[in-house]
Formats: sequence, structure tokens, C-alpha cells
Amino acid sequence: MNDIAACVAMIGLDENKQLIVTACNNQFFQLTGAPVNDAQTFPVPFDAMVTDSVANEFREKLLACFRSDWVQQSEQTHDIQTGGNWWRLSLKPIRHESNGASVHKILMTCLDMSARTDQRQEPEVEASRYRALVDLAYDAIVTMDEKHNITLFNRAAENLFGYSSAEVMGQPIVTLLPEKFRADHPRKVKQFADSYQPNLRRATAPRMDETNSVYGQHRDGSIIPVEIAVSRIDLNGGVEFMAVVRDITDRARLMELLKKQATTDALTGLPNRREFLEYIETLLGDTDVFSVFILDIDFFKEINDEHGHDAGDEVLRTLAKVGASMMSRPCLFARWGGEEFVAALRGADASRAYDIADALRKRYERQDFAHISRLKPIPFTVSIGVVTREAHEADVDTLMKRADRALYRAKKSGRNRVEAG
Ligand code: GH3
Ligand code: MG
Ligand code: MG
Repeated sequence: MNDIAACVAMIGLDENKQLIVTACNNQFFQLTGAPVNDAQTFPVPFDAMVTDSVANEFREKLLACFRSDWVQQSEQTHDIQTGGNWWRLSLKPIRHESNGASVHKILMTCLDMSARTDQRQEPEVEASRYRALVDLAYDAIVTMDEKHNITLFNRAAENLFGYSSAEVMGQPIVTLLPEKFRADHPRKVKQFADSYQPNLRRATAPRMDETNSVYGQHRDGSIIPVEIAVSRIDLNGGVEFMAVVRDITDRARLMELLKKQATTDALTGLPNRREFLEYIETLLGDTDVFSVFILDIDFFKEINDEHGHDAGDEVLRTLAKVGASMMSRPCLFARWGGEEFVAALRGADASRAYDIADALRKRYERQDFAHISRLKPIPFTVSIGVVTREAHEADVDTLMKRADRALYRAKKSGRNRVEAG
């Protein structure tokens, strides 16, 4: 046991439940301050061996270990003459062979950690290392105290918000928020503080310990989309909140672009079929009157054949521009596909819908608009089938099929005309 680089002792209880040392190595003698005694006979009462001020702490921990039957580990300071003053104490219960239920003895190990103590840095060194780490962070880190005033503002935060750390220290955190979110912020923080349970992965709403997409405000007033993760830090006697803030402007832009691409027709820039159908679904969910029409270019194949596909594309773009300009919200003009276009006419009954459709048809007939054309403008006409939503009609397919049949009739009866279905 004397070859072990730690103080080791076996501790038991006598019949009066008093702690006794039943064996120990030389290092344990040194820890207790007693002279090393090779002739020592065991057991020795613990209190007779460990007499100095630390005895109480050891005794408490040993008794707790006997009671709880769990391995106990702790660190404590305790000076001995040979220099060690920081110890890692480990207490391992050993059960009786024949009686597994009760703790028979405890193996007590004290490891001298003083060498490691020397490696610990001065608090100022620790603080500047921490500061450097916080400043190196890619994400903005902002902390605030219980009064919601800023207590830490790292370099990334300076870049993100445009303020220097010195300017915002002690300032209200809402300085970093867009005006419209400021009033509600204290309530949100309180809700978060009350719900925050660091040990539970699922805190109750709002789940601000998980990332949230919100908005910050730059010094110049511009709004910054950010992702934010907030945690509560319990300090000695106080509470701080730390927010890790990431600029997601690029991601937000990309999302915007993807959304636009998913709902927009690339050639004409009009809403696409999906966007149109979604709009119709919302209108069908309402009881208000509305109408739709389908428009098809007359003899478009001939335009393509005669002038080329690119010229045909220019006709489609011209038609789209004129249609969109004549049918602004709440009407929606969209590309259905190919050389077919559709419109949702919100609030328009059958007669009004016919008028709108015929006004558009006439406009194309007159060709009194600027063409998007690199060569010469190509005149064109259109046929339109228009229908009004019938009471209780709730299916977009039947509605569009009715419009299609009306369009077919317009084609059959000579083209360049509007037919109502
Ligand atoms: P109708 O008056 O009966 O509608 O005759 P049409 O020639 O317009 O009808 P049809 O459906 O036979 O022809 C539509 C043509 O539209 C066929 C196709 O090549 C052309 N087309 C479809 N999409 C595009 C496109 O994006 N660009 C161009 N340039 N042509 C297209
Ligand atoms: Mg067609
Ligand atoms: Mg056609």
C-alpha cells in the first residue's frame, strides 16, 4: 500500500458506530500529521488519528458514505507539512461478503492535487483568456443583467449591431431590437425566465433555449434577421441572460428567393399554377363571390412557326405584363402553363367577371401597348372562358374544368371572344 501515490485507508465502524481506521498506508499518516508508525496496530479510532481541524469534514463525508452506500468524491483543501494542500477525496463503500445490503467498510483515498493547483491561472489570466475566447466567437454574444441592461458585448456583436462594446455596456438590451418588439420584450424575458429549466430538454413555451428566428436592429436602423439561443446563467446571488445571436440575412434571402422561385413562373414573372391554385383554395374557403377565367392565345402555334420560339416567348411576356397591369389585387393573374393564362377575380360576380375578361380581350385586340420585342412586335388575340363560383362549389378542379369548357366554346365559335360558363 505504501507504493501507491495516494493516501489510502480502510475505514470501518465499531460497535458504538464510531469511525475506526482498520488499515492505512504511510501517506495517510502524513496526511493526518501523525508520525509514520510501522508498528501501529489496527484498528485505531478515526478521531485519535485525524485530529486537526479537517477531521470534521472527513468525518461527515465518511458517515454520509456509510449511510448512503454511494461512492463519494469531493475536493477539499487541507495543509500538510510536506506541502500538499489540495486533495481529491474518494470514498468507496465495500459491502460485507455475506451481507450485500450493508456497508461494511469504506476505502478512503486522498489524492494530492496540489501540483495541479500550481497550474491554475490567476483569476485575471483566466478572465482575459475567457474574454479572448468570447471575442473570437463567430456568433455575436450578448449578456444582460436582471435589469435587462447589457453586461457583455463581444466583437461579433459589435460587427453585427454596429455599436462598440463601450457604447452599449449598461444600456438597455432593447436598444438592439426593432422598435415594434421593444415594448413586449420584458414580458418575453420573464416568460422565458419562469419557464427555463436547464435540466429539461423541453422547457415550456416560449422555447427560447432552442434557437428562434427573430429580428435585431443595427445602429443605422436597418433590420437584421437573426437566429437566437438564450440561456439563463445563475451567478452568485444574481441572474444573467446570455444570448448567442447569429446573422441569418443570407439564409433569409435564400429562403425568400427559393419561395419566390417555387411560386413564380420563370419566363413571365407571373405567379405560377401552384400559387394560383393556392389562392383559389383560400377563396373557396370563403363564402364571398368570385370568378375565374382561362385565357388561351389564338393560333399561337402559327406565331411560333412563323417567327420562331423566342419571338413566341416575347409574346407570352408581353401578354403577361399587360394582363398583370390590368388585374391588380385582389385579382390575381397567373400563368397556367404553355400559352394559357388564368385569373382569379375576387368579389366579381358573373356580369362583372365577363366585363373584366372582355376588357382584357379588347386590349389585346387593340394592341395599344408596348411590346417586349427585340425584332418587330407580333400582334395576337386571345379567347377566354369565364365562370363564377356556384353556391357551395368547393372543388377547384370542377371550377377550372367549367372554365375550360367555356374556353373551348369561345374557340369553337370563332376565337377572339369571351364565353361565360
Ligand atoms: P388555338 O387557337 O386553338 O389555341 O391554337 P394554338 O396554336 O394556340 O393551340 P395549340 O395548343 O395547338 O398550340 C399551343 C402552342 O404553344 C404549342 C406550343 O409549342 C406553344 N407553346 C407552349 N408553351 C410555350 C412557350 O413557353 N414558349 C413558346 N414560344 N411556345 C410555347
Ligand atoms: Mg392552348
Ligand atoms: Mg392557343
